[in-house]
Amino acid sequence: MTEVLFKVLIIGDPTVGKTSFVQRYVNNLFRRDYKMTIGVDFALKVIKWSDSQNIKLQLWDIAGQERFTSMTRVYYKDAHACVVMFDLTQRLTFQNTIKWKKDLDTKCSLQDGSPVPCLLLANKCDLPHREVDQAEIEEVCKEHDFVGWTEISVKEGQMIEECMRFLIEEMMAKH
Ligand code: GDP
Ligand code: MG
Repeated sequence: MTEVLFKVLIIGDPTVGKTSFVQRYVNNLFRRDYKMTIGVDFALKVIKWSDSQNIKLQLWDIAGQERFTSMTRVYYKDAHACVVMFDLTQRLTFQNTIKWKKDLDTKCSLQDGSPVPCLLLANKCDLPHREVDQAEIEEVCKEHDFVGWTEISVKEGQMIEECMRFLIEEMMAKH
């Protein structure tokens, strides 16, 4: 049995659903009450990838430091992949994904110098009043070199497993 450890960063503006995402993915829980996290939250998830391969995912939830917009290098150090999340019902959080991606790319890269694989997640697709349309997301995704994007609902548990599986495949391909 071989085991590999991947560090995955979850970044994006406050209240887009980052902490909820980690809770949902790791513990299959969703809570409506908003609890502001301070510092960095870690969560660990072990995945049986195949008969001979385990994957340990260490999820780093930025946790309340979003207001600084720019993160320290220490936080980004040795990351294998990243998720940039926004809220479909709050346009500003979408516009800021570009800043988050740039901050990531200026502060870290993989050991071979290539950019850290980064997924763009459009959360809260369960809500009716959207402020961002799909064509715009597609454009930002291409323009700013995200590996892909999808709509998700952490609340409904929609596309959570699938998007993380995709990201793991990206990491395994570079490993
Ligand atoms: P964070 O600041 O990015 O960590 O955001 P939180 O995970 O704390 O979530 C902020 C608020 O959004 C909370 O009240 C969550 O219950 C809510 N929320 C998170 N994901 C969803 C979702 O998919 N749909 C809806 N409707 N609300 C969500
Ligand atoms: Mg949080």
